[in-house]
Amino acid sequence: MRAGRRPPRRSGPLVLDDDAVTAAARLVGRTGATGFECGYLHDGKPVQEAGWYAVALYRGARITVEDQPGPVEACDALSRRLLDGAQCRLCGGTVTLTDARAGCRWRRAGPAWVAGCDPRAKDLS
Ligand SMILES: [Zn+2]
Repeated sequence: MRAGRRPPRRSGPLVLDDDAVTAAARLVGRTGATGFECGYLHDGKPVQEAGWYAVALYRGARITVEDQPGPVEACDALSRRLLDGAQCRLCGGTVTLTDARAGCRWRRAGPAWVAGCDPRAKDLS
């Protein structure tokens, strides 16, 4: 799995939440993707305007989120797109990302997405 282009170091105090990137990469890997990339399109722009994207590559398909304000947002947005409404591989329930809907409530805990039915999830909420 390639992590794609790294964020620009020269652009000042960008604090990168590597956890979001790691969590997305792991999640994407578990969905059977052949690749994962997080990067930006525009050099020489402020971080928020660099056009951050994240993409999961599958045989013959790709799922992309674009125009995000940073790598964390891009990776979390991609993760949410992959998870929301999917079937939990542990309990078979429908994955939800909000308490407002019934289902298996997933949330990101640092560098990993954790299923609501996972015993470890009790410590998170
Ligand atoms: Zn579950």
